[in-house]
Amino acid sequence: MEPEKKPENSQYINVVFNLPLNSVFTYALPEKGNYEGLDLTGRRVSAPFGRRDLTGWIIGHRDSLPEAVKEGKAVHRIVDDQPLFKKDMLELARWISNYYLCSLGEALAVMLPGGRKEKDLPPLGLGGDKNVGGRSEIVLSDEQAAALKEIRKREKDFYYLHGITGSGKTEVFLHLAEDVLVKGQSVLYLVPEISLTHQLVDSLSSRFQTPIAVLHSHLTPSQRLKEWRRIQSGEARLVIGARSAIFAPLEKLGLIILDEEHENSYKSGSSPRYHGRQVAMKRCRREGAVLLMGSATPSVEAWHLMEKGTICSLKLTSRPTGGSLPSISIVDMKNSKSLLSQELIQSMDQVLKKKKQIILFLNRRGHSYFFHCKSCGYEMKCRQCSVSLTYHKNRKRMICHYCGYQEKPVTVCPDCGSVDVGYAGFGTEHVEEQVRQIFLEARIARLDMDAAKKKGVLQETISNFRKGEIDILLGTQMVAKGLNFPGVSLVGIVLADTGLSLPDFRAGERTFSLIVQVAGRAGRYSDDGEVLIQTFRPENPAIALAASGEWEDFYHYERDAREVLGFPPFSRLIRIVHRGKNVNKPLESLELLTHRFRQVGIEDVMGPAECPLGVIAGNYRYNTLVRSRNFSEEHHLIQRVLEDTAVPSGVYREIDVDPVQLL
Ligand code: ADP
Ligand code: ZN
Ligand code: ZN
Repeated sequence: MEPEKKPENSQYINVVFNLPLNSVFTYALPEKGNYEGLDLTGRRVSAPFGRRDLTGWIIGHRDSLPEAVKEGKAVHRIVDDQPLFKKDMLELARWISNYYLCSLGEALAVMLPGGRKEKDLPPLGLGGDKNVGGRSEIVLSDEQAAALKEIRKREKDFYYLHGITGSGKTEVFLHLAEDVLVKGQSVLYLVPEISLTHQLVDSLSSRFQTPIAVLHSHLTPSQRLKEWRRIQSGEARLVIGARSAIFAPLEKLGLIILDEEHENSYKSGSSPRYHGRQVAMKRCRREGAVLLMGSATPSVEAWHLMEKGTICSLKLTSRPTGGSLPSISIVDMKNSKSLLSQELIQSMDQVLKKKKQIILFLNRRGHSYFFHCKSCGYEMKCRQCSVSLTYHKNRKRMICHYCGYQEKPVTVCPDCGSVDVGYAGFGTEHVEEQVRQIFLEARIARLDMDAAKKKGVLQETISNFRKGEIDILLGTQMVAKGLNFPGVSLVGIVLADTGLSLPDFRAGERTFSLIVQVAGRAGRYSDDGEVLIQTFRPENPAIALAASGEWEDFYHYERDAREVLGFPPFSRLIRIVHRGKNVNKPLESLELLTHRFRQVGIEDVMGPAECPLGVIAGNYRYNTLVRSRNFSEEHHLIQRVLEDTAVPSGVYREIDVDPVQLL
């Protein structure tokens, strides 16, 4: 890359675009406007690109055109009056582009808000008000106080509050946030889901007097830009947000809080596939800030770093509000004919008699999982994906949960004409039907993506449940995350095995953490909390050790298994997927790439193979997995091979560094 020049005499600017191209483009300054001597780095430009006009980012100035270029086209106009990013952010973007193997333009695109030219800019320099409020009446428990004291020593960069739900992690977060704000520094507070940002804004704005900015992907581009400017100007020094907020342009960053560290939503599902935790670690190291994570079920990676001492682990084992851990028992479903076991039904009955509440959890929505023919074994699958259709009884439809494809339900086998057909497996809709048949008097509500589609249903159901107007709440993950209901004394996990058979080495970890998280919803405020786990695999370690409370043992088990198999955290993975509508092209081009990897001496290459989800929305998918034990060296090789191996037209390449799922 050409050296970046000072703006004084420069007539040209270097621009990158949100394209999978690692090139920097040089343009002349716009004909209109007086930009002489001005440093334009960090602003957006509208520029001619081929036959199109694109918006790009100015990453520097230069005095002359590159030798190969004869005539420098001029950009149409400079979009921003003030830079969107400074040198620090540009460096972070370069790191993202290097680590996650994307172009600098793609990295900037994921970090910076889109949106048009802004109209009203906030006044600059409102920050620095040290009167931030933040006092609370709460007297910290001994464990909380000890954790706080340890972090204040600041002997490490990374800390982890490892504590059960309700152990008061938030209170420790807020004490530290206050410390940092009072010093005139800024705080970034990340939560795994957008819905949780609203709750947090409410509770933090009543506690702190300092202005709060919010960043997440559901803001409109202009809302995002507005928040961006409030943060940049120093007006808001406390930022709350979901994954993408990790790029908040805070200056004097003192603390990043990353709540529910184990959540996969911190990992981006599209290019660049960055992980919020990874970027947080990078930012904290670069900017001298503290990273404070928290969860009841750390990821195996984080747990490993705690064992090694890279992350300082602080344990919270009790609940300051009282309320002991619930008693957890396993119900073996192998001999059960029905969906709900006698044990679960009896417990539910008792809880209802005591006028307490119940949560039933099942990680699968819809009515039945798949349609199959008992004569020929035919399974009804999506026409465009290689997954079974789910029967949605309420909507009288068979639906693909990956692409949304729908069909009418059938009563005869489309393949052999047999009428001996049935629906197998079950989802939340089916559970609801059963529960209504058994508990005629109970007030029942279902909460899953289907139910929550209607606007307001989510908030309303949760609020009604909290008020005690619902006896049994059943649903998917939505009922498991971040919610506290004082009246709940029984949690039933209808089937704990749903995720275990997925072809993914993290299936066990995910099942374990889900059980522990769901179980944490019971008995937070009382001593008679009970959790019943229905399963066909009671002996599976993820289930058995979650239930027995031997959590450390689960991590040891999982660590040993990963070490034997050579999976993370004992190696790093890079996954390359080629997909396309054509059957052959994706595989052929990936074969070529995989061959090149082996040629340059990368040893541990698996593939190419069909992805477990071999077709999604009509796209054939193949993947190659590189497993690396000396990541920094091989990463470089991989980067070079990827840059040198063109992707044929009609094929799309996905690059996933440190993938969290392999489907
Ligand atoms: P976590 O984040 O670990 O799930 P929270 O921080 O939400 O737990 O705390 C659970 C409940 O305990 C909250 O209602 C909180 O106000 C309360 N709490 C936290 N710390 C204390 C304390 N030291 N004394 C009394 N109540 C506390
Ligand atoms: Zn058939
Ligand atoms: Zn589909």
